[in-house]
Amino acid sequence: MGKSSKDKRDIYYRLAKENGYRARSAFKLLQINEHFNIFKDVRNVVDLCAAPGSWSQVLSQQLIKEGDQHPPKIIAVDLQAMAPLPGVIQYQGDITKTSTAEKIISHFQGGLADLVVCDGAPDVTGLHDMDEYIQAQLLLAALNITTHILRTGGTFVAKIFRGKDITLLYAQLKLFFKTVTCSKPRSSRNSSVEAFIVCQDYSPPEGYVPSMVNPMMDLSYSMHLLLTILTLKDEANPLVGPNRMIVPFIACGDLEGFDSDMTYPLPVSPLFYFEADLFRFSPMALNINH
Ligand code: SAM
Repeated sequence: MGKSSKDKRDIYYRLAKENGYRARSAFKLLQINEHFNIFKDVRNVVDLCAAPGSWSQVLSQQLIKEGDQHPPKIIAVDLQAMAPLPGVIQYQGDITKTSTAEKIISHFQGGLADLVVCDGAPDVTGLHDMDEYIQAQLLLAALNITTHILRTGGTFVAKIFRGKDITLLYAQLKLFFKTVTCSKPRSSRNSSVEAFIVCQDYSPPEGYVPSMVNPMMDLSYSMHLLLTILTLKDEANPLVGPNRMIVPFIACGDLEGFDSDMTYPLPVSPLFYFEADLFRFSPMALNINH
């Protein structure tokens, strides 16, 4: 049975049509809010990867009250163009670019976002490991841009694929948020690995400076090192403090033992040749019973 006929049978698909939502995903955001109350006191909100716009529709309906002189600001960003929506400022751009972060902030008149949501998904290849990896990269890109635009104490909600590396993603998110919860709205199909992380109380590590370089990969450090070597200048590393993630490097093994970079003569003990001969005729060497 084709995907489209399955979609048409789906209750949320039909409800979306009935309620004028551009996609059934609208219910995912509504159900996340039912549980976590993420819309409470929100004045500035950003919808990352927003097209065709059902999450922006929900935000507009839930946050903008009739006759409000100063309605909350809703900014929607996507690579693709979106049909206009009441009260939603739209920007066609890439969430991995600094210029996009700057564009978003320019709308908040010196303020920052209270809530950032991201339902981003790359084009699915059908290769599970690949799709999971790309989704994780998009989530990290969303986290990156969020560190530029979210106020301390704010909330970040994003789509995640529950794959084998999910604990690593949780650990990375936990560096920036006090509470990280994985939630699966009823409207998200059980057969799908999709879930949503709800990250509350944004509190970046002390001294953290937002950077569009993936905060977990520290790529600019290698670039800086290369430039330092080429120009023979011994400048200080621009990534310092919590921006520079370094894991402990531990050498193990007996420091008096063999060094793998050195060349040593073979041991000459007669016992060694006797043992080597025994090994030659052992079942393991002859590959018997294995
Ligand atoms: N939440 C949307 C809604 O309710 O209508 C649906 C979002 S759709 C599942 C995923 C979107 O992610 C696509 O429109 C795609 O263009 C967008 N996207 C993927 N990578 C992006 C990127 N790097 N920057 C901006 N948008 C991106």
